[in-house]
Parts: sequence; C-alpha cells; structure tokens
Amino acid sequence: MVFCADFAALRPSPADVRVVTSDGSAIRAHCSVLAAASPVLERMIEGTRRGWDAGCTVHVLGAPADAVAAFLRFLYSSPRAEDAVGAHGAALLALAHAYRVPWLKRRAEAAVAARLTAERAVDALKLAALCDAPRLYLACARLAGKDLDAVERSEGWRFAGRHDAALQLNLLQLVHDAHQRKERWERERASQHVYGQLSDAMAFLDRIFAGDGEGWSACASAASSREDGGVRRGLEQLMRHLAACGGRTRKPAACPRCRRALQLLRLHASVCDRAGGEPCNVPLCSNLKAKMQEEGVGKTWKLLVKKVTRARVMSALASSSSREVPEVVKKSWAKYSSSRASRIR
Ligand SMILES: [Zn+2]
Ligand SMILES: [Zn+2]
Repeated sequence: MVFCADFAALRPSPADVRVVTSDGSAIRAHCSVLAAASPVLERMIEGTRRGWDAGCTVHVLGAPADAVAAFLRFLYSSPRAEDAVGAHGAALLALAHAYRVPWLKRRAEAAVAARLTAERAVDALKLAALCDAPRLYLACARLAGKDLDAVERSEGWRFAGRHDAALQLNLLQLVHDAHQRKERWERERASQHVYGQLSDAMAFLDRIFAGDGEGWSACASAASSREDGGVRRGLEQLMRHLAACGGRTRKPAACPRCRRALQLLRLHASVCDRAGGEPCNVPLCSNLKAKMQEEGVGKTWKLLVKKVTRARVMSALASSSSREVPEVVKKSWAKYSSSRASRIR
C-alpha cells in the first residue's frame, strides 16, 4: 500500500484517520480537521470510529489519489488560502459537492468555468448537472452559444451522441434559450431607447412652451448632444407645422405630420405632472387630458405612458448628482400612488 500523502506534520497531534482512495493509496490525516470541514466526512468518521482515541479509516472514492490529496490539503487550509485549484478543478468540484464543502465547491466551479474550452464543454456540462453547479452550467451554455461548431467537433460531443443523446439535447436547448434571451434583451434595449427618446421629447416640449420668455432659445441651449439637437429641431418643426397647418386648410387627422404632433401632445397630456392648479403652457394639455378622462384610453396607450414615465424617472435619477430625490420622481410617485389608490377603491 502506498502512502501518497501524510498530513500528520500539519498538526501537533498525531494523525488519527486513514483516508483510502480508489487505487488503494492511504493518506494519514486528522479526524478533527476533516469533521470540521465536511459534515459528510464527519458522519463517515463517526460511523467507523470505535472509541475516542481509536484511529479509523474512511474511503474517498471516485477521484484520482492526487486529487483526493489536493482536496484534503484544501480542508487543512482556510477558505482564503491562495491555493491553485486549477490542476484538479473538475475532481475538486465533484469532491467538494459530494462531501459538502461549499466554499471549495464555489472556487472549483469558478476554476473549471475559467478554463472551459469547446473541447471540454460537454464534459463540463455533465459535471455541472451532476454537481448542481449553475454558474458552470451557464458558462457551458454561453460557450456553446458562441462557438457551437467547435463544441460539435469535440470528442465529448461525439461521445454524448453515441451514449447520451439527452445531454446533447440539453446543450442545444441551452444554446437556443441563450439566443432567445439575447434577442429579447436586444429588443428590450431598442425599445428602451425609443422610450428614452420619447421621454426627452416630453422634456423638450416642456421647455419649448415653458412660458418664461426664453422658449426656443432655452431649449436649444439645453439640448447638449447632437442627438438631442436633432430631437429638438424635429419637435420645433413639428409644432410649427401644427400651428400653421392644423385645423386651417385640412383637418389635423388628415395630415400625417399634424397627427404625429397631436400624438406627442397627447402623450405630454398623459405624463404632464402639473396637478393642483399649476398652469401648463403646452398646447391642448388640459383639453386632451379632459378628453382622455372622458373617453378613456386603451391598454397599449397606458403601457406606453407607463414606460415613458419610467424612462423619465430613470433619466432624472441618472442626471441628478445630489442624493436628494428629484422633483420629477416625487411627482411621478405621487401620481402613480394616487392612481393606484383610486383603482383599488
Ligand atoms: Zn399638418
Ligand atoms: Zn401639460
């Protein structure tokens, strides 16, 4: 029998447990250390020990002897010890999972995920499923999503094709889900951009019609970026067009530009915070508000208003340098709290 490691020197007390590995090697260690680090080893030691002073033997199987020695070395060190997990990452993950050593499991999982290659992805996916390692599972899915061709050329993939078709299917499902998540995320990001632009347009409308005598020029100086400048100019032109064309020669509904201007004014009326008698100078604000209250609005419009309001709040939060809650947030919160309360009533 080969003694491949001896941890007796690491503690002043004599080693009192023999850890026997798959190849018959035995490692001398301390019951107190193993029992403190792993509840599973603690139970195994209690089960085989006869009397307090008596030595005992436990079997740690299913991993090469040097991986078991590395595992025990970790149990002797603190979780903060800067040991390399890389050399035995997969075996350490399996051992840490089986013997319930969570801190080592997290480190081994991270080490395996960091060294993941297309060649190892299928084996790593299997390991992740066996060891209940969600971060490694995700890393496999991400890698397969990036380079499925390379994964399909790997020996692990071919082996799974012959012996474990369910594993292949699992990986393909993960790739499919990841693609769908990415598409959903991109769609969401694009729509956030649109809501952000609409929220900016609402802020420009407020400034254009602020009624403080500065009007268009104040708005122009507030439009900082080139994109802001474009939104501002488009709005100005649209509002001037509505003033010149709307209701004079044709009905506003018949002119697409007037229709667009009216939709923006309607959106303004929906998000306008000036409650409690404070006057609003944006054209048609009170008329459109009254009309919407009288006729009601559809679900889609309500959702649009909600998303634009949220984008407004987010933009106010992002631009607010002080810790104080911005006025727009307070107003929006008050508005939504009161509308919720009236719905509940
Ligand atoms: Zn028009
Ligand atoms: Zn208004």
